[in-house]
Amino acid sequence: MPTLNFEQETNQIYRKHAIIGLWLGIIFVPFGNLLDRFVYPDLANLILFVRVICALCFLLMLFLFKTSWGKSHVRFLSISWAMLPAWAICWMIYRSEGFASSYWAGLMLVLAAVCILLPYTLKEAIVHSLLFLGSYIVAGLLHHFKYATSIDASHLVIAFFFLGLNSAIYCTSCYFRHAARLREFNLRDEVGQKNQALTESYEKLLAMDKVKSEFIANISHEFRTPLTLIISPAERLLQKNDALPPKVYETLRMIIDNGLRLLKLVNDLLESIRLDQEDVAQLSLRPIRLSSFLKGIVNSVSHLALPNNLKLKVEQGRDGIFVNADPHQMEKVFLNLLMNAIKFTEKGGTITVCWHMGQGEVLIDIQDTGIGIPESEQAKIFDRFYQIDGSATRRFQGVGIGLALVKEIVEKHNGTLSLHSEVDKGSRFTVALPLLGQKPENFLSHIEELGANEMGATFQSAERFLVPSKLTSNDHNALIGRGNYTLLIVDDENTMQHFLVELLAEKYTIIQAEDGETALALALEKNLTWFF
Ligand code: ADP
Repeated sequence: MPTLNFEQETNQIYRKHAIIGLWLGIIFVPFGNLLDRFVYPDLANLILFVRVICALCFLLMLFLFKTSWGKSHVRFLSISWAMLPAWAICWMIYRSEGFASSYWAGLMLVLAAVCILLPYTLKEAIVHSLLFLGSYIVAGLLHHFKYATSIDASHLVIAFFFLGLNSAIYCTSCYFRHAARLREFNLRDEVGQKNQALTESYEKLLAMDKVKSEFIANISHEFRTPLTLIISPAERLLQKNDALPPKVYETLRMIIDNGLRLLKLVNDLLESIRLDQEDVAQLSLRPIRLSSFLKGIVNSVSHLALPNNLKLKVEQGRDGIFVNADPHQMEKVFLNLLMNAIKFTEKGGTITVCWHMGQGEVLIDIQDTGIGIPESEQAKIFDRFYQIDGSATRRFQGVGIGLALVKEIVEKHNGTLSLHSEVDKGSRFTVALPLLGQKPENFLSHIEELGANEMGATFQSAERFLVPSKLTSNDHNALIGRGNYTLLIVDDENTMQHFLVELLAEKYTIIQAEDGETALALALEKNLTWFF
């Protein structure tokens, strides 16, 4: 919408308010004849005639306002609207009793209506008031000369007192209203300009953000190929050589684990960009048999539960349930929820996957006996990049997009994701998905069918990769190697610790810590003297 300057905006108000005034005039000017019949019964018919003419002129003005001429003469028409009834009243004063007529009160009424409705400046209000007073004087004098009547000073004083006072009040009010309107207009103008500047900056930021996202997406893509070409051959070496020396085996394992970890990070990064690009996240729906699909996913991560001795189980619900979903996206949903459950459940805990029927939907629970989520955090964890413990020293790895992604995918499937959790007791994430009415002819049972090629398999391994948990108090107490000197290695990355230990254990006796506080305590306890 083009912005108007103050003059144009004022003209719009003139036009709009004059049209309201014209309608009021069309109704009330003829209606005033009731008064004439009481005050001047002899002249009532004649006055009615004048009133009707006046109302017809109002109608004509309404029409003129719609024409292009009217649109370019808004002020003239508006002021004519104000003067027309005033002159009609002056004519009545002239024809009735001149200065002795009490119809000057009608002039006050019209002046009030005009000054309230029209956005007059002080100058316009003064000119208008003077025109009213002048017309009154002319009407009174004309009557005096035409009908040779005397002039009673008391009539004049009363009429002038009230008309003058009334004019002064309305002129003052016009002055303040005009000043306030001008101030408001300038403020609005300033806000509008700032708004526009903000919108332009926002658009620039959006464009830059898009370029940045595209750049990150391209780079991430480029990372994936060489990474796959590092991980896959290393995995093949490991699989094809049973009798590898332990050191070689360990080193290959480290290459593969860190490659997978990097690949997972790259995939997470790509995923977070995909969240921004709605058009990319199109679903490719297929009927899925829920029971076998879920079991397949749980099986594929069962090895992750072993190090912490977690019980990972599927509680068989009703079989023969089908949902229409994108298998890749659904795999992400359940993998994320399961991996979180594994990450956030302490040694010996239990993770259960079960499902049951709701109204027209199936409810799938991923339940753990882990650390739980405080109530104050429960709404926030679905925000992108939010982690309850976001510190650099947090126990668990991750970038905080998992649950945001899960929620987005589930909602794209017209489903819902809900959470019930208690601190130190555990969490239950429930995915509700619409049911597929009838048993489909072709359906998918296992996600494995999708990752058939080597690249796909490597991606799947990366998706299922969990960074090993951090050191325990047993690790702190362990002395590794048999050197003459004792070294204390401090690093919050378990794998880096491991690598450094491997490197230095032949020459030194090694103690490990993952943060400064533990390191200091261990150094004092073991009486270490040099610090670097
Ligand atoms: P990430 O796991 O990469 O940090 P998520 O979006 O998957 O990111 O999770 C966000 C946060 O929600 C996690 O950092 C964690 O604090 C909390 N969380 C998620 N799942 C669980 C769970 N099963 N038990 C306890 N906390 C959880």
